[in-house]
Amino acid sequence: MFVGVDFDGTIVDHCFPDMGEPVPGALKWLKRLNGYGAKIILFTMRSNSEMFTTALSDAVAYLEGNGVVLFAVNENPAQKTWTTSPKVYAHLYIDDSAFGCPLIHPKGFKRPCVDWSKVGPQVESLCLSGRWG
Ligand SMILES: [Mg+2]
Repeated sequence: MFVGVDFDGTIVDHCFPDMGEPVPGALKWLKRLNGYGAKIILFTMRSNSEMFTTALSDAVAYLEGNGVVLFAVNENPAQKTWTTSPKVYAHLYIDDSAFGCPLIHPKGFKRPCVDWSKVGPQVESLCLSGRWG
């Protein structure tokens, strides 16, 4: 199961290009989803641009340093055999900007972020359903 996961507002608070505080539960749930065989694709607007040379690398290092295994970053190599579409293929996407995504606004956070206490169990049940292999 491919799971596209945004970074700022989903895994950490919005502090681009810096690293925000961790969104409660995000790392715990991502590692748990790894354990179910979910292929986590970091799907973020961050890039290593001329102005923010390590913004994307920092996000990847943050996740890997915290034990999250990434299948890919801003792409799904598995789709290249059947489509030339630039949209990253995933079975679901977790993104604080997605319509309907449950949000919380922890004290001290700049903006609302993903409510993993709601998202985590729902995605877990989808992983366990075997619906997407
Ligand atoms: Mg976001």
